[in-house]
Amino acid sequence: MMQENKVTQAIQAIGLFSGGLDSILACRVIAEQGIRVRALKFVTPFFDHDLLAREKEYQQEVVEKYGLDVELVDLTAGYIELLRNPSHGFGKNFNPCIDCKIMMLRKAKELMEEYGASFLITGEVIGQRPMSQRRDTLNLIERDADCRDLLLRPLSAQLMNPSLPEREGLVDRERLYKFSGRGRKPQIALARELGITDFPAPAGGCVLTDPNLATRIRRFYEGLYLIGKDEITTADIQLLLLGRQFRLPGGHWLVLGRNEQENDRLAELCEQDDWLLYMPERPGPTALLRRGSTLITGLEEEGEILGAVAGLVIRYGRKVKGEFSPGEVFFQKGEEQKMLRAEVVSDEVFQEWIV
Ligand code: SF4
Repeated sequence: MMQENKVTQAIQAIGLFSGGLDSILACRVIAEQGIRVRALKFVTPFFDHDLLAREKEYQQEVVEKYGLDVELVDLTAGYIELLRNPSHGFGKNFNPCIDCKIMMLRKAKELMEEYGASFLITGEVIGQRPMSQRRDTLNLIERDADCRDLLLRPLSAQLMNPSLPEREGLVDRERLYKFSGRGRKPQIALARELGITDFPAPAGGCVLTDPNLATRIRRFYEGLYLIGKDEITTADIQLLLLGRQFRLPGGHWLVLGRNEQENDRLAELCEQDDWLLYMPERPGPTALLRRGSTLITGLEEEGEILGAVAGLVIRYGRKVKGEFSPGEVFFQKGEEQKMLRAEVVSDEVFQEWIV
């Protein structure tokens, strides 16, 4: 009987679900009041994109661990654009947290009608993060996302003015919380109360907050390579997060795999106008030169760049009798394929190409 009730209950709230403890708790606190919660997990190439390939399995995990229905929402297209110029700027690294939250809330609001939801939930806690969770920033986020009054933050709700679902009696304000600040103790205690034991450690997941990767992405957006800000694609971002990166003379973008898995991934990401090189007879990296066929048209430049890329393939490949000896390198450019004889590039030459 209980089960039947649960299934026939109308969906009443959409929860923004990062997968972190606060978002789990926020959704569960509302679900505990008998409200059906649809958790939305947003993904982009900068965070959690891999889940798209295993959505069913992930949904199953979330139901089993937290008793929540989760759905993935891919924000890639808008997100690549957002990073070009976020209105509220960046955090410590290349993380546009305020605009990111606004974008997620806007999308969630758009989906309310489809899901029959009457309000939105987030796991934000006042004062927990220096930039994006100050009280004035929380106000700004809900204003710019145009969801003032529709947004309930169950973990800090008692420190805020009652939202519409509280005023209308959909949610019992007395059973919400007044957590604030950076401490995690109240959240951990609440998790224990709700029987939640297996949850991820705070932070992690978003490469835009990782100092090294964020720098790599920022420089890419700033035009490090011969690829315009306006031409950036999802596959470019996936390439950017892989392997060893080089900026060759002339601004060409080269990526070398560091292991078999990365080599396979590079071959998958290779597009019609990319160059692909590797040594068939010696273990070593696969090299992908992005848009080589479009950007390199002169024979002289083609020869120089080809020599550099093939030389790096040898330099990062296995030595023969203790040396990086000349070898055969396979080269593919569109439909054209050939074998080249190449020599190693010396360390002094390529050091300045390393990104
Ligand atoms: S850390 Fe990343 S995912 Fe989280 S709000 Fe900031 S930009 Fe968005």
